[in-house]
Parts: sequence; structure tokens; C-alpha cells
Amino acid sequence: MAEPKKIRMRTPLVEMDGDEMTRIIWQMVKDDLICPFVELKSEYFDLGLRHRDETDDEVTVNAAEATRRLGVAVKCATITPNAQRVEEYGLKQMWKSPNGTIRALLDGTVFRTPIVVRGIEPQVRSWKRPITIARHAYGDVYRNVEIRVPGAGRAELVLTSADGTERRELIHEFTSPGVIQGMHNLDASIESFATSCLEYALATRQDLWFATKDTISKTYDHRFKDIFADLFEASYKERFEAAGIEYFYTLIDDAVARVMRSEGGFVWACKNYDGDVMSDMLSAAFGSLAMMTSVLVSPQGHFEYEAAHGTVQRHYYRHLKGERTSTNSVATIFAWSGALRKRGELDDTPELASFADRLEKATIDTIESGQMTGDLARITTFPKPQTLDTEQFILAVAEHLRP
Ligand code: NAP
Ligand code: MG
Repeated sequence: MAEPKKIRMRTPLVEMDGDEMTRIIWQMVKDDLICPFVELKSEYFDLGLRHRDETDDEVTVNAAEATRRLGVAVKCATITPNAQRVEEYGLKQMWKSPNGTIRALLDGTVFRTPIVVRGIEPQVRSWKRPITIARHAYGDVYRNVEIRVPGAGRAELVLTSADGTERRELIHEFTSPGVIQGMHNLDASIESFATSCLEYALATRQDLWFATKDTISKTYDHRFKDIFADLFEASYKERFEAAGIEYFYTLIDDAVARVMRSEGGFVWACKNYDGDVMSDMLSAAFGSLAMMTSVLVSPQGHFEYEAAHGTVQRHYYRHLKGERTSTNSVATIFAWSGALRKRGELDDTPELASFADRLEKATIDTIESGQMTGDLARITTFPKPQTLDTEQFILAVAEHLRP
């Protein structure tokens, strides 16, 4: 019998290969779930640590630039080197985090969304649909300056403008030891964060929530609130109305309380620190980091899809010893489906977008039929899950994918 015709792609996507267990999974996903169905067009960049070292990390910059040119990328998890990795791989230097490099070049915001399936129930009973967190990735406490105050003294905030004029605010007149901290943010960074969030909400047709503590921080947090509100009024109000979605601003403590009582199904824009804390709360409450997708969206509308987890090093070392592993490939599969769907939407190739839908459905159907990797088998509400190894799970998805 003739093989069914493969789906054509118009424009290539940027493919960034990575490290360790996720690199093994990457190849399996391509071989078993993508290439039998799609005539894959990709510009391939090997971001595996060895090749980053060989190219003095130029490959990471080239991959980010290709993403700006082609608009859509899919990325495998990569090692961020530390001292131990420098030794393990004999690196020329401790290269920076590829995700950090790519995020800086695309000036993007990361959106993380849990993958919701029957059998893996959220800890919060009211949550029916996923909640997407968008975390601002610049400034605040992550770029702070701090001083330990040893004893009596006056602490002031001083702004020296370009023309030399000074403005001072008293922080505190210390009569005993303490601490002080200075932090900053930039209008331009807040604006591109707001733009990415508003665009993402439109693209996914979900309400956008944003919260700060502007009642207490009447200048700093208020600036965030104003920038979001001004941008919304000027450029998004009508488009949100047309899409039937809302922009909703509230105080951060009120937002947390409402999130816990909500049904989900919205985008939650968070300042840097709030996003750091709340994204871990959300992924734990929804089930597992291995069931979390992540997409970097630039204000120009470039998209880079990846898994939220790392390279699963411990499983890789077991794999190298020839032991069986049961590593969850769902987030990697969804990185591919996300990228293929976006490519299909941008290129007006609906058959590619509907393949992405089918791939996701096949993955979810596999788990809902009781077949899953060990991490999910341990937390599922199904009474008798069937635990598959890394490859068996991917082959089971392939089985569900066949017409
Ligand atoms: P990790 O790869 O996320 O894994 C931590 C642990 O979480 C694993 O040992 C495993 O627990 C569990 N886990 C994570 N993903 C899983 C999956 N898909 N299936 C099953 N279990 C999963 O974090 P890490 O071990 O701390 O970091 C390893 C490397 O990844 C580091 O070099 C780090 O730099 C890198 N990293 C990269 C990214 C990225 O590229 N986006 C993000 C984070 C970390 P058990 O061992 O208990 O089964
Ligand atoms: Mg964190």
C-alpha cells in the first residue's frame, strides 16, 4: 500500500537541538512522531554543549538570529554550564545560559502553561482549564544593589540627572544597624513585556490579568500599572472587545486569592519576582514540571517553543549505563506541536496546524488511556496505570496518531 502523503511545510522552522536525556527524546520525537507525517523543513542548530564550546557559543547567537528571520523556533533543553560541567566537558569557558542569550536577543517574555489531562488532577479543585504565567524577565530585585547598614547613618536615594541636577529622597535615618536595597526598571522593558502579554492573550483568545502592589508602591509599581493601561487603551481595547476577551488589573494579593478560586483559562502577567514564585506554585499545583510548556514571545511576534524542564541529567546517566529510563516526553512533544501549529498559522497551511492538534490529542489520549511514564504513574488518580519506558511511551503516542 502506498504511504499516505506527507504534510508540506512552506517556511522552515528553526530547530535547536540540546543535551542529555532531552537530546535522546528529541531524536525519537522527530523519528516517530514528526517525520513520518510531515515533510519537515528546518534550519538545524546544534546547541548541544560540545558544539556550543566548539563554536565559542556563536551557534546560540546564530540560532536566535535565525528565529528573528524565520519567526518560529523549537528548542530542546540545554545544559547551563557550572563549574562541574566545565570539568565534565572540558569547556573553554563557562558559557552563559543559552536561554538567557536567546531571551536577550529576542527581548522576549516567557509564557508557561500546564498541560492538563484527565488522571492528573490539579491540587486546586476549581481549576478546570490551564493558567498561563507570563513572567517579566528584567530588573527589580534581580538587578538590585544592597548595603548592610552597620549602625547609625542616613540612607538616601539620589538621582543625578544628565544635566547634573540632583534629586534626593530620604530612605531612613538609621539609629541602629539594618539593611537597604536599591532597584530599578525601564519603561522600554515594561512596554515590551506588556506588548508581549497583550499579543499573547489575543493570539490565544484568553483574558489577561495583571497585578502589582501599586497602593503601596505609588511610583514604582504604579508605573507598571500605567504602562499596561495606556498601551491597552491606545492599541488593544477594540481588538480585545472583538475577540471577546478582557484585560483585568487588580492588586497582587487580590489576584492570588482570585486565582485560587478561579476556573483557570487566562494569562497571568507577573512582575519578575511574582512570576518566579508563582510559576513554581502553579506547576507544582497542576502536577509536574514535565507537563509544562514554555514559549518565548518577542514583542515583534517571534516565537520560540520549548519544554519547561531541564535535560533530566539523572535519567541520562542511567541511560548511558544501559538502564531503562522512563522519562516524560510530553513537554518536548508539545514544544514541537506548538512550533508546527504557529508555522501553519503564519504560513496559512491549515493542514500543518491540524496535524499539531492531532499530535497533542494523541499524546493526551495515550495518557488518558492509562499509558504513561513513571513520573505520572506515581501521581495519577487512575487505579492501575501502565508505566512505559521512554521509548515505549513515544511509540504508544505514534500508535494513537495513526489514522
Ligand atoms: P531537570 O532536568 O528539570 O530535572 C530535575 C528532576 O525533575 C529530574 O531528575 C526528574 O526527577 C524530574 N524531571 C524533570 N523533567 C522530567 C521529565 N521530562 N520526565 C521525568 N522526570 C523529569 O533539572 P536538573 O536535573 O536540575 O537540571 C539538569 C540540566 O538541565 C542542568 O544542566 C540545567 O542547566 C539544565 N536546565 C535547562 C533548562 C532549559 O534548557 N530550559 C531548564 C532547566 C535546567 P527524578 O530524577 O526524581 O526522576
Ligand atoms: Mg524560581
